[in-house]
Amino acid sequence: MLKIYNTLTQQKEIFKPIHPNKVNMYVCGPTVYGDIHLGNARPIIFFDVVKRYLTHQGFEVNYVSNITDVDDKIIDKAKELNMHENELTKIYTDHYLEMSKTVGSQLPNHMPKATEYVKDMIQYIEELIKNGDAYQRDSGVYFRVRNVSDYGILSKQNIEELNEGVRISLDQDKEDPRDFSVWKNTKDGLAFESPFGTGRPGWHTECAVMNHIIFKEEIDIHGGGSDLKFPHHENEIAQTVAHDHHHLARYWMHVGRLDVNQEKMSKSLGNMTLVKDLVKTTNPLAFRLLMVSHHYRQPINYSDELMQQFVKEYDKIERSLKKVFLSMKLNHFTNGKPIDHVIHQFYQWMNDDFNTPNVMTIIQDLMKQINKEKDDFEKIDKYETIKVILEILGVMPKFHISDESIETYKAWEEAREKKDYQKADKLRSKLVDEGLI
Ligand SMILES: [Zn+2]
Repeated sequence: MLKIYNTLTQQKEIFKPIHPNKVNMYVCGPTVYGDIHLGNARPIIFFDVVKRYLTHQGFEVNYVSNITDVDDKIIDKAKELNMHENELTKIYTDHYLEMSKTVGSQLPNHMPKATEYVKDMIQYIEELIKNGDAYQRDSGVYFRVRNVSDYGILSKQNIEELNEGVRISLDQDKEDPRDFSVWKNTKDGLAFESPFGTGRPGWHTECAVMNHIIFKEEIDIHGGGSDLKFPHHENEIAQTVAHDHHHLARYWMHVGRLDVNQEKMSKSLGNMTLVKDLVKTTNPLAFRLLMVSHHYRQPINYSDELMQQFVKEYDKIERSLKKVFLSMKLNHFTNGKPIDHVIHQFYQWMNDDFNTPNVMTIIQDLMKQINKEKDDFEKIDKYETIKVILEILGVMPKFHISDESIETYKAWEEAREKKDYQKADKLRSKLVDEGLI
């Protein structure tokens, strides 16, 4: 039985989907104005593992992750580069998709762009105003936080704390400093016509509206980075409660930070490694292995040394499995069967709030057994077992062993039999280069 740590209740809960065998999952996606760094890749990898695991368990998963393609940061960057916002967001959306695939993630089922839902956002805001949950000012439209009695439910902050936490706004337009913008009136950069004035929707409203339109009801899982809990997720919930009279999601999952020397990886701290730079020299699946070796809720303290450890670790796994794969091909072994009790243990760890660090111990154990085993035939079931696990984690190496390599291997064996050591040595070094022996 799967248990998920729910940020909303701050405890592990048995996962009960709203509809049997179906899972609706929404993960807040990127604001597309720059290259993504290693910290940005963490939720891309983790929620892909969640999707793969739930799918493996027989759930039909509808995984939606948005693209924020209208935002102040986008407008500033477009000005800086002297290009249209749409041109800029196209470049960085493509970059995001490419990097997601590079780190071994499948793309979500649906990736809605905020700009495609502006009409719906305007209608939603009109409804909020009509019901008294938002009010209009010259500067835009604000959400009336005091209308939501359990505001703070996710971030566990009470009203006093929230009041202290929110800097007293210089914007005299707001009734309450906690009120947030659902529509900003501005003619600066990409803007849309609306009954409230020319401007653009607020970020919190974008996600709330895309959820409302796409799912039309409460969803099972809403996820994102832990830094999104407040104010973003809190404000998404507040709007949904006010507008739709139901909660946004049953389970809230938040992925921990990726730190460098105990500090958050960020542009402003100048400690950023971009995914595109890392993968120039490093196997992206080794990076993914590093990510899944840590529990998703825990921070990762990233360093080059740590990365190098995982490069070696992944290389060992890849080389050992490649040999088994080659042997299966050469000997025409039919596929084996995953070992039941090992798979069962794997499920137990995954069902315990995706305890992937403990799954690593199963992988290491299987690798030891494979490396110790002399009889190739005995390795097949172990290979099939580890394959199931690595595919769910998205770190299974892809082997392409050409017919030519197989011929080289056969010729090597033949040379050894004939005691033609000179020829055998030559062929051997070729096979070593290819990582086949
Ligand atoms: Zn969001």
